[in-house]
Amino acid sequence: MLEKVVIANRGEIALRILRACRDLGIKTVATYSTVDKNLKHVRLADESVCIGPAPAAESYLNTPAIISAAEITDAVAIHPGYGFLSENADFAERVENSGFIFIGPTAGVIRTMGDKVAAIREMKAAGVPCVPGSDGPLNDSQERNKQLAQEIGYPVIIKAAGGGGGRGMRVVRNEAELLNAIAMTQSEAKAAFGNDVVYMEKFLEQPRHVEIQVLSDTHGNTVHLGERDCSMQRRHQKVIEEAPAPGITEEQRQQIGARCVEACKRIGYRGAGTFEFLFENGEFYFIEMNTRVQVEHPVTEMVTGIDIVKEQLRIAAGEPLSVTQEDIKIHGHSIECRVNAEDAKTFLPCPGTIERYHAPGGPGVRVDSHIYSGYRVPPNYDSMIGKLIVTAESREVAIERMKGALSEIIVDGIKTNLDLHREIMRDGNFCKGGTDIHYLEEKLNLS
Ligand code: ADP
Repeated sequence: MLEKVVIANRGEIALRILRACRDLGIKTVATYSTVDKNLKHVRLADESVCIGPAPAAESYLNTPAIISAAEITDAVAIHPGYGFLSENADFAERVENSGFIFIGPTAGVIRTMGDKVAAIREMKAAGVPCVPGSDGPLNDSQERNKQLAQEIGYPVIIKAAGGGGGRGMRVVRNEAELLNAIAMTQSEAKAAFGNDVVYMEKFLEQPRHVEIQVLSDTHGNTVHLGERDCSMQRRHQKVIEEAPAPGITEEQRQQIGARCVEACKRIGYRGAGTFEFLFENGEFYFIEMNTRVQVEHPVTEMVTGIDIVKEQLRIAAGEPLSVTQEDIKIHGHSIECRVNAEDAKTFLPCPGTIERYHAPGGPGVRVDSHIYSGYRVPPNYDSMIGKLIVTAESREVAIERMKGALSEIIVDGIKTNLDLHREIMRDGNFCKGGTDIHYLEEKLNLS
């Protein structure tokens, strides 16, 4: 097993990685910015190294500082978590060139999957169903672009090849808007991602977001762990996730799962990964692959009994997967609420000091969070302060259990989105299951 791992992240995921390391007897090195020295995992880690000041660009995105932390502590591997440098191919490359193990796929695979145009090309070749689209980047020919949109059929969506985090996308409903929308998305993409390549897809009006979790080791074994439904979104950001996805049959699961496994083998995938799909009228359409652990991984862990972060560590150590596809069975239902420090009306982040915190508990309740009474949420990073995950024998009971957990949890001193979660758990359509990706925004606009 790996002897010592650097955790190149913060907050709940850093703590999650620390816990997985502890289970496996791996020593941990926390890396933190100056505002984060009181983070829970920094206190719990075997060693800790300050990697810079609060701005992420100077700390959590500071490659030399992170690699130096591994060097001075004699660590063998670096776990990037999610966000920050987790999908940065150059970082992965520099980690490996410095003699450390990058806990994730090879730099080459990250690079290909990080370019959505290249990713779609690979997926098509592997027989993964994709959204009808331009099959490659748009060029300067206005006639060709108009023609493409005609063929695909309006509405279409213009997307940045290098986009992420729900940014760099624009819906176009008719030809009059098309050329301007392409130009705007190009210049935004250039500014935000340093890459102005854009492509076109059919805009699906009422899809659900359904994604498949995979694990691949370095011995040629790949498994899928079924799907998650992440349709409850605001501004393309997930708010609630669940597993399994309501209404997906075992046959559909195995069929799309097998396609993803095939694709992993084709691209030489290593580690944990997620294939994201839009799901409409019973069909899956690939949109992108995430080459890292995801925020919502716990719901899959809860219904499969597989610890995804421990599998990541095992894979990085060169061990074979601890399970085969036949071993993987879905039991019960799990739901995750992302708890954010934000204003209920404006959704703007609301950092500050948590004066009082009481965690919920009981059977089937899991809290993945780094917060505690007296913890100060800094203004410099993502506003998510934790995840509340409940698991039960059925979706109905899971919803009741989540209502109970949401009535127990107390986070005083800062604004949070807990009331929004309480409201969604009472929402008739959510309770029925299968709402589309636009449902939450439509609901919010009405209220
Ligand atoms: P990102 O990398 O920024 O997360 P994605 O390609 O995963 O970008 O898309 C994020 C979200 O945008 C999806 O979950 C969905 O809500 C919406 N979206 C993306 N492509 C389409 C499409 N072709 N039709 C409808 N909605 C889309």
